[in-house]
Amino acid sequence: MIRMGRWFKQLKDLKEDRWENHCHQCGMCCHEKTIVGKDIIYNLDQWCEHYDPETKLCRIYAKRLTEHARCKSVNIYRAMFASYLPPTCGYVEWAQKNHLRFAPYRRIQYVRESSDEDPEINTPLTAQVD
Ligand code: SF4
Ligand code: SF4
Repeated sequence: MIRMGRWFKQLKDLKEDRWENHCHQCGMCCHEKTIVGKDIIYNLDQWCEHYDPETKLCRIYAKRLTEHARCKSVNIYRAMFASYLPPTCGYVEWAQKNHLRFAPYRRIQYVRESSDEDPEINTPLTAQVD
């Protein structure tokens, strides 16, 4: 019964159009990603053609789901199950906070293509998704 009550609260949260407020606008989901075994590698130097690295915003946000075939909205199911989202994603944080994160474990690495720009960030950072 308590669990059902929690679910109804989550659905109410969605209906009240507050869902998108969970996004931190970090832009990480718009970067190129590669899954290798249990690792996911984010390339900090490559991103979607519609991503603006200056503002970290999408240039076609309102039309993104129809204009860009690879773009996927982060709905409640992706917040719960999508392992490509980083642990710092606001939706993932929401799912974790509500004990609704069930994505498989992935070790996260952030890499840059150019090694001389910022050597510190070339050292892959690791984090646990779940
Ligand atoms: S189209 Fe989608 S993936 Fe590309 S920048 Fe916009 S929100 Fe990100
Ligand atoms: S990774 Fe999550 S918090 Fe960051 S821009 Fe994408 S949806 Fe928003």
